[in-house]
Amino acid sequence: MATVERDVLIVGAGHAAAMAAVGLRQKGFAGSIAMVGEEAALPYERPPLSKAYLAGTLEAQRLYLRKAEFWQERAIDVRLSTRVTGLDPQARTATLSTGEAIRYTWCILATGGRVRPLPCPGADLPGVHYLRTLEDVDGIRASLKPGARLAVIGGGYIGLEVAASARKLGHEVTLIEALDRVLARVTSPVVSRFFEAKHRAEGVDVRLNTAVAAIVGETAVTGVQLGSGEVIPADVVVVGIGILPNSELAQEAGLPCDNGIVVDAFCRTADPAILAIGDVARHPNRFAPGALRLESVQNAVDQAKTAVGVILGTPEPYADLPWFWSDQYDIKLQTAGLAIDYDEIIVRGSPEAAPFSVCYLRQGKLIALDCINSIKDFMAGKKLVAAGLEPDRTLLCDPDHALKDLMTAPA
Ligand SMILES: Cc1cc2nc3c(=O)[nH]c(=O)nc-3n(C[C@H](O)[C@H](O)[C@H](O)COP(=O)(O)OP(=O)(O)OC[C@H]3O[C@@H](n4cnc5c(N)ncnc54)[C@H](O)[C@@H]3O)c2cc1C
Repeated sequence: MATVERDVLIVGAGHAAAMAAVGLRQKGFAGSIAMVGEEAALPYERPPLSKAYLAGTLEAQRLYLRKAEFWQERAIDVRLSTRVTGLDPQARTATLSTGEAIRYTWCILATGGRVRPLPCPGADLPGVHYLRTLEDVDGIRASLKPGARLAVIGGGYIGLEVAASARKLGHEVTLIEALDRVLARVTSPVVSRFFEAKHRAEGVDVRLNTAVAAIVGETAVTGVQLGSGEVIPADVVVVGIGILPNSELAQEAGLPCDNGIVVDAFCRTADPAILAIGDVARHPNRFAPGALRLESVQNAVDQAKTAVGVILGTPEPYADLPWFWSDQYDIKLQTAGLAIDYDEIIVRGSPEAAPFSVCYLRQGKLIALDCINSIKDFMAGKKLVAAGLEPDRTLLCDPDHALKDLMTAPA
């Protein structure tokens, strides 16, 4: 078995991995870098997959984070369609599915997550899709023939975005959610109700409090059987019920894992030569009450910077404000901060119609905002949350009072 030496081995070739490699070269790192990813595609952005790419308004070429020449010109050894199958922290060596081995000085685990499988009979029938990769969306697009009826299982960001994209394409869409509201994991009831109403107005048949009993069909999916026994006719099913962190490699190497690879504020695992970043990293976050994993581009990009700092000997703890976005129809939801353990909600504007924003407070401190078609609130809100301010409530709930003018009273 051939063993090669690399100063930095990056496992995974997704957003976090790519940004770590880019960041190292940008900061003048001259050592050797290998980036090993099991997908066939060069690093690309996932957010448009459920939005413009699924809707057919964005070409695959526009998804790539960098052109192929970029990686060659910067001497980044990119291995695609290759899996890292084992990691030996003592020998600082990783084994690859090709049979080769890479000995590293630093290893960055950026293995992301994989889709949570739907645990019911019929889930493996042709026509049942998940959405994580470019390949997945190409499969969905090929299945969604004109007139095809779509059932979406899961009312999180991805399920809702898929429903919106499919409506744009003219498909009949039923959205099935087990809980009593959409986006329940990430936002408040007021925002959930807004999105539910929007989808209904756009013609989606939204079913809440609804369990899926089985996917039905002989040789391919023909419907989704609900807990009540009712069968929703469907030619295509897209399942979006969350992801599981790809932490097995770390776990088998003896690194502590707990719903993700456990890291400190510098993205270091228990082995100081191994860092973990992005969706897979369970990290302490100064905007959360405890450790957590974040599944966002912001987190992937900013943790990549943290890892680069550690490798270059200029470590800075990860302290960036979490933010997220979602595009559905003509609505852009932008979230600043983490709406966890809030004890008060203030709505700016009318939640009946966009634009409006929802502010989340904990003991008077502004901890997060959901901004619906309100970029100004989002931009100012990011600064307010990052600064840990306790803004005046009367001014906060007045949509005519610009949030940026509240940057006065430090907590
Ligand atoms: C459809 C969709 C829409 C999204 N929309 C948004 C959005 O609007 N806003 C937002 O902020 N975020 C969004 N996200 C989330 C965002 O894309 C992720 O947070 C981000 O991609 C995380 O990057 P990552 O590098 O940590 O993980 P990933 O992108 O999952 O990359 C990890 C890579 O590592 C590979 N890998 C895993 N194990 C191994 C191994 N052993 N060997 C080799 N390779 C391995 C995987 O195959 C994968 O290619 C969306 C995600 C999806 C799927």
